[in-house]
Amino acid sequence: MGVRVTVSVLALAAVLSTPAFAASNTAKVEAAAKVVQPKVVAWRRDVHEHPELGNQEVRTAALVAKELKALGLEVREGVGKTGVVGVLKGGKPGKVVALRADMDALPVLEKTGLPFASKATATWEGKTVPVMHACGHDTHVAMLLGAATVLAGMKADIAGTVVFIFQPAEEGPQAGDEGGAKLMIADGALDNPKVDAIFGVHIGPGDANAMNYRPEGFYAGADRLTITVKGKQTHGARPWAGIDMASVSADIIQALNQIAARQIDVGTSPTVLTIATINMGVRNNIIPEDLVMSGTLRTFTPERKAEVIAKTQKAVAAIGDRYGAKAEAVFTQPYPVTWNDAALSKWVKAPLEKASPGKVDDQAALITGAEDFSLYGQKVPAVFVQLGGRKADVPAAGAPANHSPYFDIDEAVLETGVKAEVFMALDYLARK
Ligand SMILES: [Zn+2]
Ligand SMILES: [Zn+2]
Repeated sequence: MGVRVTVSVLALAAVLSTPAFAASNTAKVEAAAKVVQPKVVAWRRDVHEHPELGNQEVRTAALVAKELKALGLEVREGVGKTGVVGVLKGGKPGKVVALRADMDALPVLEKTGLPFASKATATWEGKTVPVMHACGHDTHVAMLLGAATVLAGMKADIAGTVVFIFQPAEEGPQAGDEGGAKLMIADGALDNPKVDAIFGVHIGPGDANAMNYRPEGFYAGADRLTITVKGKQTHGARPWAGIDMASVSADIIQALNQIAARQIDVGTSPTVLTIATINMGVRNNIIPEDLVMSGTLRTFTPERKAEVIAKTQKAVAAIGDRYGAKAEAVFTQPYPVTWNDAALSKWVKAPLEKASPGKVDDQAALITGAEDFSLYGQKVPAVFVQLGGRKADVPAAGAPANHSPYFDIDEAVLETGVKAEVFMALDYLARK
């Protein structure tokens, strides 16, 4: 009997060290992801129907905490205001890997017509606004809960620790408030246990189950631009008696467009400089004293960012001078470039291929959107991946983008997202 036990332990050890075990682990994840898929869909619909704006994700956070506790994870609540962190300690010692989902919705009036469409409203910067999960963060919450369920079921096999980060306010906090990844990090989301690497997935309108990313710079760095101009108020009939602020705003827009298109090396790195709001005046026959414009700058290198900021500030001040006004451009709320660690990017292709065979593009195009996932990437090696979720009956051209009131996804791809998160975490901890 004793001899027989020794033999079978040796045989088991031999099996575990062969590729066959890796294959059976893959089959185990696939089976578990299939089993949890109806729950993932139910979580997605529940969160979708009850969206909450940044730093207001109280119901969502309570749901997440309840589910993680039910899985037997250690759960920290109230991290970075409404964030939740779950810690799953595997049966064997090893490294620490984090998976991140964001939980916030947007002030958008939902027009999808889905049976679980949002009817929610909330207060944002003093106004009552409609609320919708128009960026798909409802799916991120659901997929990460699904991944936590699969991984908790394999706890004994896991060599190391998986940290599940559910963060609030990815889209940015209200004016004057703080939140998002910055506050999660300040509140210790990457500490205790100390995270060695982090992965994140964002859903979008790409081909169903496509997984796209690229090494190094992926999403742009973003800076908020505010231009304030102080002029001289006058009658609309006597512009020469004051300063014509409409002309000032027009000249500023022309000058900024020329910076982005004509004064920088467009061949080396993309740059977007957008003016999105222009505010001045209350009446048709008063030329006002004040003009405020706002916009956003998107760049992929610190050098380009510094260059465009300097040129913008110089041009705006010079236009003000020309009119006899005082004009100033200020850049705030910097988000860094979302940086995919080069070595990890190379490595991550294999686990992603297991989740979505033949549909992984590791040289995706640059994205001029920005993500506060970038802040985690400044602390630990990180990879951020896009998951395509377009429904089969929606043509690629004109598919509603993230932030559209019509944004919706094919829920079948959530199973792929769950598998991708599980394989990234599991394989990272298993690698030598
Ligand atoms: Zn968004
Ligand atoms: Zn988003």
